Amino acid sequence: MTIHQNARVVLSMDARKTLLHDIYQRRSIEACGVLLGSTDADGNWHVQQVQPLPNTFNSAVYFEFAPEDLLEVELTHPGEIIGVYHSHPGGFASASSTDRENMQRVNQQQQIPWVWLIIYGPFNEALLQRADGSLPLASILAYHHYSQEGLQQITVQAEQNFRTEL
Ligand SMILES: [Zn+2]
Repeated sequence: MTIHQNARVVLSMDARKTLLHDIYQRRSIEACGVLLGSTDADGNWHVQQVQPLPNTFNSAVYFEFAPEDLLEVELTHPGEIIGVYHSHPGGFASASSTDRENMQRVNQQQQIPWVWLIIYGPFNEALLQRADGSLPLASILAYHHYSQEGLQQITVQAEQNFRTEL
């Protein structure tokens, strides 16, 4: 799959901490939830916060949100949902055919400009030690289905810390 030339998804430290906690807490099933933040004029996604949601299937190979759970986030964070995430606890480091169908349906048919994160396992002690409190970027894949180029992989970046040392 091609990596999109320009678009980026930028994750805050807070978002990476919540992601690590969630996928590890629910490591026997696919953890899932929504990404909250904003998009910019260049088509990049800036994820500030992550909101875990129940996987109504409680499955290690499938996830689905309850519509009312998604609606509740939309009501408490209007306009802030910019994407979704789910985990592959079995370690599959790619979008499954189901994932690809969902990406196409939501991004194209429904015209919802979400970015999709997949966090792939294994979620074991070694990951926790390597992670040091926040999810390593190397465990994250990002996708978006564009109308022209089709499904593209998106570069994942950590939010820069702009604090100046005086
Ligand atoms: Zn998947």
